[in-house]
Amino acid sequence: MADEIQCAECSRPVGDHLTLCIHCGDRLRDELLSVPGVLADLATMRAGQAKFSGERVGGRSAESRLPVQSVARKLKDPVGAELTGDRGYRRVEAAVYGWARVLSEHLRTEVPVGARGLAQLAINNRYNPADRGTNTIHRSPDGKYARLIRHAPDALAAPATAVEQAAVWMACHPHELRAHEAARDMLTEIAGALEELRKVVDRPLELNYLGPCPTWLDSGYECGFVLRAERGQTSVRCGRCREQFDVSELQAKARLIAEDKLYTLAEMRGVLAAVGVPVSKQTLHWWANGRKTDRLEPRGWQHVDDRGTRITDHQISDRDKQVYRLGDALKLAQGDEKQGGSAAWAG
Ligand SMILES: [Zn+2]
Ligand SMILES: [Zn+2]
Repeated sequence: MADEIQCAECSRPVGDHLTLCIHCGDRLRDELLSVPGVLADLATMRAGQAKFSGERVGGRSAESRLPVQSVARKLKDPVGAELTGDRGYRRVEAAVYGWARVLSEHLRTEVPVGARGLAQLAINNRYNPADRGTNTIHRSPDGKYARLIRHAPDALAAPATAVEQAAVWMACHPHELRAHEAARDMLTEIAGALEELRKVVDRPLELNYLGPCPTWLDSGYECGFVLRAERGQTSVRCGRCREQFDVSELQAKARLIAEDKLYTLAEMRGVLAAVGVPVSKQTLHWWANGRKTDRLEPRGWQHVDDRGTRITDHQISDRDKQVYRLGDALKLAQGDEKQGGSAAWAG
């Protein structure tokens, strides 16, 4: 049909001849309703309440705060520090104010900022209905990103901002939004601005490495598919052989195997950092040359020749380096941590 009306965004036919189809109209409305929530997440993050580093929430390793870093130095801005997310925030603000004004002029009405109902509705939308429950991590549908959900009680006391109210007011006009001739630009600009801000708020979700799948297959080989689990997950199913495992058992096994591996001092530093136990170079050398009680004992030599690299129990050439057991180094790091850890954690 030549005169079929297509959605300006996705080219689906639009039965009621509006600018956007119902699907894209819903998206625009959902984006607008998400504005208070995304801004609340940003505020939570900046307040440092969302101490979140990948798979861990709270606890020792998560002490580093989210990247509320000053970019003033980078920009050589003498006036003041700019916080991460400022640019995204301003972009959301500009998009929402700009389009709220266009819509209000089109409707020949004012945005009733400050009206009790609108302010309350804006605050309600700081809380995503999907976030009910006590799980503190919200995952993106693709499972790659996570954020602490907004349980920040501050959001209860903070008054609704004008930008939150303008966004929610727009969302209260679903038909007018879809019918507007510039509806596609609204969707592009508002969704684009929000996406930039979400990238600041959402953190990549790290998965725990659980080692290769230990199932023996009929072929006589081990399955070997790499198993990973999210924090808090108690069981995991292999993506290849579909066998199900207990996460804590796999972790214990993986730890035992890893602890028995041997490394040179130079390698050890990288391995320790990779398992979340950063130790300074000086500390490692101090351990290797240390007193009897807290000495990192060498377990062999690493010999490299044209046949490759191998571990031997005696020195073959004077280029051979001594190797140490990961488990021994972890034990020393743990001991140092208990004593206050200044030596192990310095540098
Ligand atoms: Zn569409
Ligand atoms: Zn498997």
